Amino acid sequence: MSNETLQAVRGMNDILPDEAQLWLWFEDTVRDWLESYGYRNIRMPLVEPTALFKRAIGEVTDIVEKEMYSFEDSLNGDQLTLRPEGTASCVRAALQHNLLYNAPQRLYYGGAMFRHERPQKGRYRQFHQVGVEALGFAGPDIDAEQIVMCARLWKKLGIGDVALQINSLGDAASRQRHREKLIAYFEQRKDALDADALRRLHSNPLRILDTKNPAMQELVSAAPRLMDELEEDAIGHFEAVQAILKRHGIAFEINPRLVRGLDYYNRTVFEWVTTRLGAQGTICAGGRYDGLIEQIGGKPAPACGFAMGVERLLALLQESGVQNPAAPLDVYVVHQGEQAQSLAWRAAENLRDGGLRVLLHCGGGSFKSQMKKADGSAAVCAIIIGDDEAAANAVTLKPLRGGGEQQRVGMDDLQQKVRELIM
Ligand code: ATP
Ligand code: MG
Repeated sequence: MSNETLQAVRGMNDILPDEAQLWLWFEDTVRDWLESYGYRNIRMPLVEPTALFKRAIGEVTDIVEKEMYSFEDSLNGDQLTLRPEGTASCVRAALQHNLLYNAPQRLYYGGAMFRHERPQKGRYRQFHQVGVEALGFAGPDIDAEQIVMCARLWKKLGIGDVALQINSLGDAASRQRHREKLIAYFEQRKDALDADALRRLHSNPLRILDTKNPAMQELVSAAPRLMDELEEDAIGHFEAVQAILKRHGIAFEINPRLVRGLDYYNRTVFEWVTTRLGAQGTICAGGRYDGLIEQIGGKPAPACGFAMGVERLLALLQESGVQNPAAPLDVYVVHQGEQAQSLAWRAAENLRDGGLRVLLHCGGGSFKSQMKKADGSAAVCAIIIGDDEAAANAVTLKPLRGGGEQQRVGMDDLQQKVRELIM
């Protein structure tokens, strides 16, 4: 057997304790923010039937064609896939459990998603999203609320430099008209198309507009615009969204090339993009998907949602100078001797009873080496217990930050005295 050190799967990252502190802070902030808009948490499995994603995302998309981790369950032959995104699962769960019966739902979830892409900065094979879905809402108010909500989060997180792009994909009839014009346009310029585009020319020409190939950008920019085909209803909806954004002072740019990488979108689509993360600049993306619920087997119902890329958001936070917060700790307990150890345990448990965060030194060592560890920790104060303290049923309390004298404190006063220090 080889004893070479095993490595994580390429494109799947460990999040080490220093960085995990920032994740925790981010998750708390996001949760408060979502609750302030009345969204409720839902949790779905990481694995779903492959058919769900094929049906929801579309067969001719990057995700379904080449990015899914799909496998056969070796025990029963089922075709399964590690979820590449959350919307399909969320809608599946809502339908399976009848959540939409007579009631629209504002739902959110967070967690790992899996896509077999080429790993690079901001693009991983296991990455994390926070997904937000409003199921059963038809009006432009919910689209606009989701965008206004995002703006509030960026402010809460303290990130600037994110620009909003919006577009409308219209409804089925206008997409059909646009599709025919697109095919005709690209047919005449077949020589300039790459392999992906050629393959999609007839199956899904809209996707060609979503190409990441720089050589095709010019061709794509001059292509017929879906915007010019929109029906009156869709135009009205799009204008209503814009009016709310303007009322709330949210700047946006209409990007007629914005089509999104998944098939299920219609009408409003949006992306928040930063120029500070290089090529992987989209930190949040979403839009309306009025056809998806029916496509997954439910009674037709409109819906709108978006997902944020957590790794990209955190990279942007770090880029903006936000430091990893220290792990929170109030007290470090230093002790030596048998009597002292038993008092140290009692003191630590007593402080925890009072809601304090306490690290009890384990593993022995001299006072000097233990104090060094206390100094290097994030603790606000140290409690020192030796033979003298043990005999007096008391501890020495030593502030570790901002000066202040050490003092002898009896067990009865301990919680109170520590609280005074950490205030
Ligand atoms: P991209 O165009 O960058 O491939 P996408 O359109 O495939 O993105 P969505 O499916 O809309 O992305 O996912 C929503 C968000 O999730 C993206 O805006 C991005 O922030 C994040 N995201 C998507 N794929 C990855 C990935 N492989 N690694 C890290 N974050 C990702
Ligand atoms: Mg992608």
